[in-house]
Amino acid sequence: MLSTNNQHIALISVHGDPAIEIGKEEAGGQNVYVRQVGEALAQQGWQVDMFTRKVSRDQPTIVQHSSNCRTIRLTAGPEEFVPRDHLFEYLPVFVEQLLKFQQQEGIEYSVVHTNYWLSSWVGMELKKVQPIKQIHTYHSLGAVKYKSVSTIPLIATTRLEIERKVLETAERIVATSPQEKEHMRSLVSAKGSIDIIPCGTDIHKFGSVTREAARQQLGIDSDTQVVFYVGRFDQRKGIETLVRAVGKSQMRQQGNLKLFIGGGSRPGQSDGKERDRIEKIVGELGLQDITTFPGRLGDETLPVYYAAADVCVVPSHYEPFGLVAIEAMASGTPVVASDVGGLQFTVVPEETGLLAPPKDDAAFAAAIDRILANPEWGNQLGKNARVRVEKMFSWDGVASQLSDLYTHLIVKEAAPELVGQVSA
Ligand code: UDP
Repeated sequence: MLSTNNQHIALISVHGDPAIEIGKEEAGGQNVYVRQVGEALAQQGWQVDMFTRKVSRDQPTIVQHSSNCRTIRLTAGPEEFVPRDHLFEYLPVFVEQLLKFQQQEGIEYSVVHTNYWLSSWVGMELKKVQPIKQIHTYHSLGAVKYKSVSTIPLIATTRLEIERKVLETAERIVATSPQEKEHMRSLVSAKGSIDIIPCGTDIHKFGSVTREAARQQLGIDSDTQVVFYVGRFDQRKGIETLVRAVGKSQMRQQGNLKLFIGGGSRPGQSDGKERDRIEKIVGELGLQDITTFPGRLGDETLPVYYAAADVCVVPSHYEPFGLVAIEAMASGTPVVASDVGGLQFTVVPEETGLLAPPKDDAAFAAAIDRILANPEWGNQLGKNARVRVEKMFSWDGVASQLSDLYTHLIVKEAAPELVGQVSA
């Protein structure tokens, strides 16, 4: 039996710092994914270094998360926030700094797992100078995204080319849903090797509070009907659809519906613009008395909000996976989501929640109302949702699948005859 225990692996997430507070600016699912995958892999015995770009002089260069898992912030470009569409020019320095770090520490990585197209370029450059296996997770596909935006950024051609190249050359691509794999095949390239390994969630953190206890903690009456959203304030998240749906909801007429819209930075930050826009729509529809914006929800409060909700709404225009849906489901809360991408994989209509066409506020209103009007059915959907997450989307399970994949790739190279007989 060959063991790959104790091997060094690098997770690269140039623009999504795994050690940062989630929910602000551009911080979202990718940051959570990298951090959780890193920590879970470390628990399984890997030596995990997660590389990101330093965005402020005050940030520590190294953050140690556990004895064998750390975040390393490399200086590449200005030590300030730079939107991701403007980061490409700093990547050569990022590669240089990473190689320098490796040399100083005397580390050789067996595997580099890159996240988002920017990091995929870094991984491909590393492969030119060292024998390293590249695994890549896209998090977002330019070919999908550019279909739905009105202005295509200057970087688009470069991004699309790099996304094709990494699909064709990486040792393995990780698609987080069958829908994402299908998009890669139909829109990017027929070449390359893709495995489906979903995103995961912490099934101990989410699902640990009862609805009654959660409502008591938040000061919400037991007969209030709670509709909940959490996520970044970005137009593509479809918060407008949710607000308009609540405006149209029949259940609202009964007078005890409350809408909580969590996440986002303070006004004035880049995502503040979308928040201002949403607040304006809330005002125009006369929903200000029933709508609350609790701001960014941290580790302590987020599970409480999910548990307190009768329904969690994920109205995104597109979502390659969508962590919020499985977090709500792990909390025993049914989900009404857009009928797109990874949400079609996580949410099973009529069993764990409902799907509605994106941007269709009337359909969202009808779906939310169906669940609110029938609380027993809502509870049953929530219970089924929890079971589905336990079965398919726990971080431990997901990290084991990734660990097996890394091991397989390392051993395939070192001792092909032993593939199938290894332990990580
Ligand atoms: N999140 C959070 N607090 C907030 C807002 C968001 O912890 O106030 C987390 C949320 O729980 C989820 C992630 O940010 O884990 C968002 O991931 P998702 O895949 O849903 O969307 P993305 O941000 O990647 O588009």
